[in-house]
Amino acid sequence: MQNIGYINFLLKLIAFHRFLLILAALIIFVLLFYIRIKFFKLKIDFLNTETFDLRNKLFELNGIIHFHSTYSDGSGSIESLIDIAKELKADFLISSDHNTLKPKLDGLEGYYGNVLYFAGEEINTEFGHFLAVGIEKEIKRGSYEKVLSDIKKQGGVAVICHPHNWWTPWKNFNVEGYNGIEIINLDSQWRGMSPVYILLVILTYKINPFYAMHFLSHKPKKTIIFWDKAQKHKDLKVGIASIDAHSNVKITKKNRIKFPKYAELFSVARTHALLTAKPSGNYIEDKKAIIKALKNGKCYFSYDMFGIPKGFYYEISYGNKLYTSGDSVRFSVSDLHEMDINKMDRNVIIYAGVNINPKKNVFVINLFHNGKMIFSSKNNNLVYKVKHSDLKSICKSGSVADVSCSSFYRVEIDVYFGRKSITYLYSNNIEIYS
Ligand SMILES: [Zn+2]
Ligand SMILES: [Zn+2]
Repeated sequence: MQNIGYINFLLKLIAFHRFLLILAALIIFVLLFYIRIKFFKLKIDFLNTETFDLRNKLFELNGIIHFHSTYSDGSGSIESLIDIAKELKADFLISSDHNTLKPKLDGLEGYYGNVLYFAGEEINTEFGHFLAVGIEKEIKRGSYEKVLSDIKKQGGVAVICHPHNWWTPWKNFNVEGYNGIEIINLDSQWRGMSPVYILLVILTYKINPFYAMHFLSHKPKKTIIFWDKAQKHKDLKVGIASIDAHSNVKITKKNRIKFPKYAELFSVARTHALLTAKPSGNYIEDKKAIIKALKNGKCYFSYDMFGIPKGFYYEISYGNKLYTSGDSVRFSVSDLHEMDINKMDRNVIIYAGVNINPKKNVFVINLFHNGKMIFSSKNNNLVYKVKHSDLKSICKSGSVADVSCSSFYRVEIDVYFGRKSITYLYSNNIEIYS
């Protein structure tokens, strides 16, 4: 009997030790997980040198586009959000409250220090939400055709919002007449994540908001396919990055939490407008210049949470002229047949680059032709001579006036952090047609 009691005691001791061991392993695991998240940071290292002397002289303004204030279903006042944008060193910010232009009518537009604020409007149509930027009068919700014509009458930019958001998707991808598409919309980005990642965001947000937010930087593949297919001859559909911040999550009927904070969302992605002249400091003039740039595809967008891009350019040279995104370049058919490396002005050459320090971050510039990746440049500026065969395939029919002769080129930049890669930057398209 004594022996059995002794054996039982030993077994209990072993079980207790095992329990202690598992507990210790668990504590170490949680601690390591916590430390990893707490100190998680991904930063791109940029060089300050100018690398491209052919570059068109463009003035770049980085902007926060599409957010909701207390004028609709956001939790922050316009004034408080302007203060946040100032702290984050944004150059401009455009609000987009639902079906109202009241912030403008209340006289809030203007410069606040170095930040230019103006109001846009997110308008409901039967196909989904439409972003109107650069309008002077409030537009009522209504049919797609009516809302679009109201935006156009006022000289505004009409952008399809969050086309693949499962909550409020765009319902008709065959519509015409709009100016652009939100390629990145952060509301769509988090709704598009798997439940595991959403849980990870919620669990880690308090420990390190950067870690939680970095999950939003995935590539919106479906929307990019739509964007590439939507390009039309002399009607390039501009792509932008939108924040769609509300900072107002409903928990119960009466309780809401300010999650995620505006400051965190404003830092994730930006649209960079490329202006032909230096901003004058006059808000009406500068607002016009920003609207013009957005409308004409003179912009690119990036996940600035990893660093504000330095020295990015994307240009095409042809016939002794340089073209930038949003341009449609007419290519002479006679050059197509006589293309010769010695006749540089008869060649179409694509240039792209960015001042990323290749010793710190591996980066790849990918060139896309009608949505298909055709060329890459690793850790170096991209120079690509459009080939005779490329242009032949572009212009199958050989007809000068045929729209099928259009060809759209854009670039993306992938950045590596160890083995992890992020598509960090997206240019807009340049069209080459004959
Ligand atoms: Zn919306
Ligand atoms: Zn919105």
